[in-house]
Amino acid sequence: MDKPLIVANWKMKGGKFLYLQIIKKLSQELTHDPELLAGCQVVIAPSLIYLSWLQEVLRELPIEVGSQNVSQFLPGAYTGETAAVMLSEMQVKWSLVGHSERRQWYFEEGSTIAHKVLRCLEQGITPIVCVGESTEQRTHRRQFEVIQKQVEDALSLLDQAQVAACYWAYEPVWAIGCGQIADSASIAEMSHFLSELLSGLGSSKAKILYGGSVDSKNALEVFRVPYLSGVLVGSASLVFMEWLGILRQASQYYARIP
Ligand code: PEP
Repeated sequence: MDKPLIVANWKMKGGKFLYLQIIKKLSQELTHDPELLAGCQVVIAPSLIYLSWLQEVLRELPIEVGSQNVSQFLPGAYTGETAAVMLSEMQVKWSLVGHSERRQWYFEEGSTIAHKVLRCLEQGITPIVCVGESTEQRTHRRQFEVIQKQVEDALSLLDQAQVAACYWAYEPVWAIGCGQIADSASIAEMSHFLSELLSGLGSSKAKILYGGSVDSKNALEVFRVPYLSGVLVGSASLVFMEWLGILRQASQYYARIP
């Protein structure tokens, strides 16, 4: 199996001082335990303005950077935006797409997300496409229908090989940033649903992450859920001991799986 993917979404939080503290402490841990990150792939997605700087800071560490967003357009007159080709020129290999905060605050919908996913793949960037239902949708038992639509919209412009190249992050909106993780049964149920859905759409080994209040106390429980290939971590990735705990458990857990 591919190494599991552990992604830190730093959102629009923190700044150089905090980031340097985290990286410095992580480097020290790696000096004591060089195998710490050997069992997984780690990606950190800071605000765009820090991407190049962070690449430089991370150059000695086995950690890649990712973008939190990308433009749906090809290069042109789109003030404030960043084209996929620009990310690719900066050796950025990952991008979140369709995070629920972008859907909520920037009104990103199916067609925009579909174009963003396509733009990434055209440039060799792996999109991590975020999908998730709201509290209301779950209360009305509409979660499967909602997720299916989000997935089908996101891959509507892709061919089969491109579908297989995507990562998916199941992030129930009601579990993000609140400290209340979804229960293992709900995560398992949805990751199984996603896996079947994507398999029917040509991606036989779908790569699915879970995100939503993952921390050092519940990470192991999430790693044990079948069909998952890793986690997407927000708040806990900016608290060093939490982040370290998640990385340690990921390495130890996945090291035992052939
Ligand atoms: C996220 O926003 O992608 C996320 C998973 O956040 P948190 O871990 O804080 O719930």
